Amino acid sequence: AVTVESIQKSFANFAALRGVSLDVQPGELVALLGPSGSGKTTLLRLVAGLEQADGGRVLFDETDTRQLSLRDRRIGFVFQHYALFKHMNVAANIAFGLKARPRLERPGNAEIDKRVSDLMELVQLKGLERRFPVQLSGGQRQRVALARALAIEPRVLLLDEPFGALDAKVRKDLRGWLRDLHRRTGHTTLFVTHDQEEALELADRVAILNEGRLEQVGSPDDVYDHPATPFVCEFLGEAN
Ligand code: ATP
Repeated sequence: AVTVESIQKSFANFAALRGVSLDVQPGELVALLGPSGSGKTTLLRLVAGLEQADGGRVLFDETDTRQLSLRDRRIGFVFQHYALFKHMNVAANIAFGLKARPRLERPGNAEIDKRVSDLMELVQLKGLERRFPVQLSGGQRQRVALARALAIEPRVLLLDEPFGALDAKVRKDLRGWLRDLHRRTGHTTLFVTHDQEEALELADRVAILNEGRLEQVGSPDDVYDHPATPFVCEFLGEAN
């Protein structure tokens, strides 16, 4: 499980997170939803260990993450703008995190090949192993990015607007696809989006951020049927 406790984070004089507490249970997918600038990405970066909090703490399975090296956090990260390595083919991109491990922890080449092959199947890209990122569609690239994130067997999967750069149709297809994938693989996942349809369809629970504070956390039905604050009511109402 991931436990975020009373996290505060400021940049210069600006308070981006003002005491956020949130837990993600093993195998759960929690969507972080909120307007631009509400602190979604900052929260994800803190969980990933890419930012340090000014107050509060983040625990992975009850261990304070300050006691874990970045490697030991074992985060699988997918960003909006796919950061695939352009000079590497699809298979090499997916294998990258495994090959970068210290020698004693690195699986053998045959095992890496097997894992890449299984992941290609999982993300339904079999046959495209030797393509380079420029030879893929946007949706295919994001699936490679997801396979790469899964290759290291992450304790936590952090997805930051993974479909944000794609057009509406592809986005919608991938949404359903990710939901099925999540059901099958059951990774503990934090998913950032400003698309409420996406959040409500994909998430076990939705956490709604506004100006660095959590307004409400609950199941999609719960937040929709019983918005806890005027902000949530208005925010969810906007797109209806
Ligand atoms: P969006 O949906 O637009 O990505 P967000 O909810 O992810 O927004 P964050 O990126 O977390 O929001 O940013 C929250 C606030 O913190 C914003 O006002 C942003 O300008 C500010 N901020 C984030 N990172 C930095 C930084 N490195 N330096 C200064 N300000 C920052």
